[in-house]
Amino acid sequence: MPHDTAPGRVQLVGAGPGPADLLTVRALRAIEGAQALLYDALVADEVVALAPGACVKIQTGKRAGRASMAQAAINRLMLRLARRGLRVVRLKGGDPSIFGRVGEEVAFLASHGVETEVIPGVTAASAAAAQFGFPLTHRGEARRLLISTATTKDGVAPDGGWAAAADQETTLALYMGRDQLAAVTARLIAHGRAPQTSAMAVENAGHPHARATRATLHTLADALSATAPTGPVVVIVGDVTAQAAVRAAPEAVVPLRAVGARA
Ligand code: SAH
Repeated sequence: MPHDTAPGRVQLVGAGPGPADLLTVRALRAIEGAQALLYDALVADEVVALAPGACVKIQTGKRAGRASMAQAAINRLMLRLARRGLRVVRLKGGDPSIFGRVGEEVAFLASHGVETEVIPGVTAASAAAAQFGFPLTHRGEARRLLISTATTKDGVAPDGGWAAAADQETTLALYMGRDQLAAVTARLIAHGRAPQTSAMAVENAGHPHARATRATLHTLADALSATAPTGPVVVIVGDVTAQAAVRAAPEAVVPLRAVGARA
């Protein structure tokens, strides 16, 4: 495929779950060297603030009532800025390779001859596990980690893939599942996952004000909606979450809400 000969390079950088000290050193260097920064709504202000004062900072996600930019517009903007010869950093919450559209953006830029570099970040599930003191895999108990979303382009829980998610030895990390949780937990149970399986929802994982709600697979959707979460929520389904209370890290300042049987 013929490429434009224009120069340009874009770094697609994981901002981690929020606090600046959860950035990788490589991510920090990229941000500090940025001349143009395009950042998603999930990226914390304290991370954006690490970019130089002269850096052009553009918010691309929905926040404070402002609409998010369409993906095509973001792509075009990155391309334009890169072609001006600027050091462009595309900053995404968590890890850019996990529900971060990094594949689409890399492909678009590559098709226009723009080089990209991906810098990984701490994803929400890892942040939740570390903060609330449980592992995502555990010998003899959780042999696999399945990272999945409950949301599709049409906004409904997807049909396929339930067998692996329902396997008792799978830890399921569910992203973008806050509003679909009742449908997803019902499907998991229908596909054979034990209703009493320990499960946990973590809102604002990684932040000092994170909130964890622990319940069973059967009760988690109700327990979470009772907390009326407004921030991003990652849901972890699996026996590993039963370890959370006993190993709570000191920074897990918000106590676990152990929720019993459904009312
Ligand atoms: N690339 C991101 C995920 C983006 S998709 C990552 O690796 O973490 C957006 C979803 O990620 C949210 O709906 C939520 O499910 C999850 N998420 C992102 N940041 C989070 C956080 N700090 N706490 C809890 N969930 C988070």
